[in-house]
Amino acid sequence: MGDINSCNIQKLENLLAESLNPVITTHMKPDGDAIGSCTALYHFLLSAYGKRSRIVLNDRYPGYLDFLASSVGKGDIIIYEEDKEKAASALSGSDLIFCLDFNAFHRTDNLEHLLEEAEAPKILVDHHLNPAREKFSLSFSETGISSASELLFHILMATSHIAGDASRLPASAVMALMTGMTTDTNNFANSVYPSTLEMASALLSAGADRDYILDRIYNQYRENRLRLMGHMMKDLLRITDDGVAYIVLDSRTQEEYDVEEGDTEGFVNMPLSIAGVRMSLLLKEASGHFRVSIRSKKGTSANRCAMLHFNGGGHENAAGGRLRIPEDIASPDKAAEYIERHTHLYLTENEKDI
Ligand code: 5GP
Ligand code: MN
Repeated sequence: MGDINSCNIQKLENLLAESLNPVITTHMKPDGDAIGSCTALYHFLLSAYGKRSRIVLNDRYPGYLDFLASSVGKGDIIIYEEDKEKAASALSGSDLIFCLDFNAFHRTDNLEHLLEEAEAPKILVDHHLNPAREKFSLSFSETGISSASELLFHILMATSHIAGDASRLPASAVMALMTGMTTDTNNFANSVYPSTLEMASALLSAGADRDYILDRIYNQYRENRLRLMGHMMKDLLRITDDGVAYIVLDSRTQEEYDVEEGDTEGFVNMPLSIAGVRMSLLLKEASGHFRVSIRSKKGTSANRCAMLHFNGGGHENAAGGRLRIPEDIASPDKAAEYIERHTHLYLTENEKDI
């Protein structure tokens, strides 16, 4: 963890000491790691520095994360899609901006130009490949780590306020960090490092209630989600001769099952449980494009496939992107053909020398 050194921690503490209006932001379609890291930092700033920050999001988080978001002070979460002026003035009026769990401004969608224009120093805390370090006054970027929440945990532990003692973290930060790490590792199924288990151990000792967190994350879905999962795995899943599993979820099916944000979370991983499947894709139709999620087994790069064929990127074995209509495919019904052709091309042209 090269970026967590005494020089960078000192820089961080100096910037924090001077800041009056810190803002915390994260990527669009915020997930558990995004909201977990943002709320944990919010509570740390409040307890360690007495500083009330604002969390600025592009769009609303899924309902299951209410248990974290509701711990934040009223009005301190500002959502661009719901109040553009407030989000814009929070960013332009800030004197210190934390960018959590994303590697480049465009990952925040509408906040991109606001972040470009904001004059405040910006601090990156991220675990994705290819971070745009030149945009930040201070970068904590580590790809060999489970999550932004884990990276933030190690940063906070190195501060003089926490000084390596996790029991000094506020309880709400303990819960948020544990949640972010748990969702990004798929409950310890992937991207688990020795440092991840050290963090989990320290947070459990500091009082994290894992049973409560798991119940909030995994046991609060609507019945529709399970019915949709059955339909997707039984009727929509296709597997190519190259060992690529894919599902195209069109708008009509999403309406039929009343799909909400977060309802398909985790489904893209499931086909990887089949022997011989190297990579799994889930495409969800949205307006003017499909959102693409890609997961791969070790030895196949989801990141490169997303970069080369799906206008995206991410991590080595978990990436995302989009398939644009009409730039990439003429109409939604051409998605399956595009996936088959391009993943075949990708696996034959790009993977053979890896
Ligand atoms: P998910 O499939 O869960 O939406 O995303 C998987 C991973 O890929 C996440 O770490 C996410 O940040 C990253 N990712 C998703 N979409 C994009 C994208 O369009 N561009 C890049 N660079 N990364 C993405
Ligand atoms: Mn993350």
